[in-house]
Amino acid sequence: GNVTLTIIKPGAVERNLIGPILAKINEGGFVIKALKYTKLKKEQACEFYQEHEGKPFYDDLTDFMSSSPIVVAILEKENAVADFRKLIGSTDPLEADEGTIRKIFAASKTHNAVHGSDSDASAIRESDFFFSRVERF
Ligand code: ATP
Repeated sequence: GNVTLTIIKPGAVERNLIGPILAKINEGGFVIKALKYTKLKKEQACEFYQEHEGKPFYDDLTDFMSSSPIVVAILEKENAVADFRKLIGSTDPLEADEGTIRKIFAASKTHNAVHGSDSDASAIRESDFFFSRVERF
C-alpha cells in the first residue's frame, strides 16, 4: 500500500506541535493527500479504537482522544504504513529511537503525539472513517 493515516493527537495539538510534526512528516518523504482539523466525541473515539475494547488502557485512551481537537491526515509514500511507523517510533516514547516523532514530541505512552495505521487494511478503514470521497480526491 502507498498510503497511511495519521492523527496528531490532543496534547500535541494543544502544545502547538501541528507545524513541527507536519514538517517532520514531510522531511520523512510523505506527501499529504488529505488533511483536517476536528474533534472526536467519546463515542467516535471508542469506534475508532474498537479493536482495543476491553484492554486496561481503553477508557483512558478514548477519553484522551476525545478531550480536545486533533489533526488527521492521509499520507502517501511507497511502503507508507511500515515507513511511517518507523518515522514515529515505539508506542512508548521512552522506548522510541532517537530522532523519531514520538521520541521528540510525545509526553507518555497514552499522550504519545501521533497515531499511525498498523496495516494497509487499517489505513483504508481509518481513511473511510475520517474522510469523504470529495476530501480524498
Ligand atoms: P497507534 O495505533 O496510535 O499508532 P500503536 O500502534 O503504537 O499506536 P496500539 O497498540 O495500537 O499502539 O495502541 C493504540 C494507542 O493506545 C497507543 O498509541 C497508545 O496511545 C495507547 N496505548 C497502547 N498501549 C498502551 C498502554 N499499555 N498503556 C497506555 N496506553 C497505551
